[in-house]
Amino acid sequence: MTKRFDQIIVGGGVMGASIAYELSKRGYHVLLLEENIIAGEASSAAAGMLGVQMEFEQDSPLFRFAKESRDLYSRLAKDLLEESGIDIQLIEKGALKLVYHQDEIDDLKRIASFQTQQKVEAKVISPASIPEKELATDFYAALYCPTEGQVSAPHVTKAFAKAAEHYGAVIQEQTKVQDILSENGKVKGVKTDEKVYTAESVIMTCGFKSSHFSRYVNQLTPVKGECLSVVTEKPLIQSTIFTEGCYLVPKRGNRIIIGATSKPNQTDKNVKVASVLHLLSRAKQILPALNQATIEEAWAGVRPLTKDGLPYLGEVPGVSGLYVATGHYRNGILLAPRTSTFLADIVEGKQVNQTYLEAFSLKRESIISV
Ligand SMILES: Cc1cc2nc3c(=O)[nH]c(=O)nc-3n(C[C@H](O)[C@H](O)[C@H](O)COP(=O)(O)OP(=O)(O)OC[C@H]3O[C@@H](n4cnc5c(N)ncnc54)[C@H](O)[C@@H]3O)c2cc1C
Repeated sequence: MTKRFDQIIVGGGVMGASIAYELSKRGYHVLLLEENIIAGEASSAAAGMLGVQMEFEQDSPLFRFAKESRDLYSRLAKDLLEESGIDIQLIEKGALKLVYHQDEIDDLKRIASFQTQQKVEAKVISPASIPEKELATDFYAALYCPTEGQVSAPHVTKAFAKAAEHYGAVIQEQTKVQDILSENGKVKGVKTDEKVYTAESVIMTCGFKSSHFSRYVNQLTPVKGECLSVVTEKPLIQSTIFTEGCYLVPKRGNRIIIGATSKPNQTDKNVKVASVLHLLSRAKQILPALNQATIEEAWAGVRPLTKDGLPYLGEVPGVSGLYVATGHYRNGILLAPRTSTFLADIVEGKQVNQTYLEAFSLKRESIISV
């Protein structure tokens, strides 16, 4: 039996769910197929930082795209609450990037000046003027970005999916797509174990598993990340604290997410004792009062990394109607809102920003490593 849709989306992470939301909101009949459960992979492992200012140190197409994406979040938080009933837990209490060597200060000043030029608030401050009084003061200086925000990643992904259903999207979990069907250079649909589904367009959002469709998507490197969360008796920090190799993200209910390791070419979800010990010891140096915190849970997820660190967004060369949105590496939660509007515009054949189109094109064969 075949069923026909306007678009079929393969993969129910934040990319698939946000694109399903955007297209169904625009009035299309969307089917989202997820081999396991919605938000079962990287999109529930993420710490949820909307880290435009923590992650980007100079101007680039991805920086601009990320900034536009972050700016969509405050409106989205309200819309998604109304459309899905899920609160994505947007917190806009800033972030601090700490540096521990005097020779890093010029870099911090350059980043602050670049960000100020881009009209995002940033300044370099000393330990004495830090707004977070529980932090150990053995760092040399900090980049303070008072408007940086964060969300709960699993809530965001589930809210997008639920809101897509609100607009009529069909979401089918436990359904693995085995193959993409095409004829004469035009996509026809997808094949699962049990059925064939047909559509005008197919959008692949399979995260690190996109490599399974290597005929259509360039090679991705899976990068495993481990995190843990702790609960404290009283709030210890308000802002996200970011340092080389360790971050602390304060959530509701006095929870703090501590992350994250970075292990290329690993795809298992085991959490190693050595990783937890390393993260905890680093976190405790930054925030000594964590000694009294209670460990809540630990988890792992796998980030999809492209060769040049930029996502793949666009149509697959040679197969009209087949699109890809993947390779968002460690910023997929941040980038999802803008990715979904960009992809939906491409699918609709609208004029889109040419710089983004070229920078994120599937045609590029970059060998720059990040
Ligand atoms: C530890 C960690 C911390 C992170 N922290 C942050 C952060 O603070 N901020 C941020 O912005 N980003 C963060 N990220 C990155 C972010 O999680 C990812 O970039 C993002 O979740 C990728 O989303 P995705 O939808 O592409 O992939 P995924 O979430 O992996 O979703 C892909 C989905 O496709 C499904 N699928 C695959 N193949 C098939 C198939 N054949 N048929 C059907 N379904 C299929 C999978 O089951 C999966 O559900 C973090 C990642 C990790 C691991």
